[in-house]
Amino acid sequence: MAASGEQSALERRLLKTVARTSIAYRVLEPDDRIAVAVSGGKDSYGLLHLLDRLRRRLPFSIELIAVHVAQGQPGYDGTPLRDWLRQSGIRYRIVEEDTYSIVRQRIDGGATPCALCSRLRRGILYTTARRLGCNKVALGHHRDDALGTLLLNLFYAGTLQAMPARYLSDDGDCLVIRPLIEAAESDLERLAELLRFPIVPCSFCGSRPDARRAAMGRLLAELERDHPQLRSVMLGALKNVRPSHLLDVELNERLAP
Ligand code: SF4
Repeated sequence: MAASGEQSALERRLLKTVARTSIAYRVLEPDDRIAVAVSGGKDSYGLLHLLDRLRRRLPFSIELIAVHVAQGQPGYDGTPLRDWLRQSGIRYRIVEEDTYSIVRQRIDGGATPCALCSRLRRGILYTTARRLGCNKVALGHHRDDALGTLLLNLFYAGTLQAMPARYLSDDGDCLVIRPLIEAAESDLERLAELLRFPIVPCSFCGSRPDARRAAMGRLLAELERDHPQLRSVMLGALKNVRPSHLLDVELNERLAP
C-alpha cells in the first residue's frame, strides 16, 4: 500500500477506536476544554493529532490546548516540538519547570527516574490545566500501557488493576481522560513514522521504560508468537469483568447470595 493510502487507513482505524472509547467512557463531551499533555514522545503527538482530527467530526464542539512541560533535562531541545505545535495551528502552552534537579536529588543511582519524573509532571499539568480553564486533562496512554500495568499490578503489587479511560485526579480536582486507551501501540508507532513526528528524546533515562515494565512487554511479545490475538483478548477481558468470581471480600459482601 502506498504511504498515503496506508496513512489514511491507519488514521481511520485509530479514529474509529478513539471515537468508540470516547462514547463508551464519556471521554469527549460537549464544550470540553481539554489540556492535552504533549511530552514530545510518539504517543502524545499521536494523541494530539487524532483528537484534532476527531474534533472536526464531532457533532458538538470541544477545545484543545496542547501543554508541554519542559523539565530541564540535560541536552533537552524542544525546538522541533515548538515548531511542530506552531505549524499545527492548535493552541498550545509550554511550561518550564526544572523537575530534573528534584528527581536527580531524590533517586538512587540505579533507579529509573520515570515514576517520580512523571508524577511531578502530572502535578504541573493539572495546575496548568486549571489555570487555562480546562475541565479535562488528556494523557497518551494506550492499550499496551494498560496491559503492562495490569500485569505489573498482578505480579508485583498484588492488585487487579489496569488503567481507566476516565478518572478523577487524586485531589479530586481534575478529570483525566485517556482517549488512546484502546489503541494499539504498534499503530501509534507507525503513525508517528508516517507523519514524521519530531520526537524529543529524553537523555535522563534514555527514553527506556523501567526494567519491570520492559519485562512485561517481552512477556506479552513472547506469548503473542503463539497467540497473535493475545492483546485484543486481554483488552476484551478488561471490559468483561466477573466480580462474583474474584476473591475480594468487600466485593463478595456486596455480591454473594
Ligand atoms: S522518559 Fe524522561 S521525561 Fe519521561 S518520565 Fe522518564 S525521565 Fe521523565
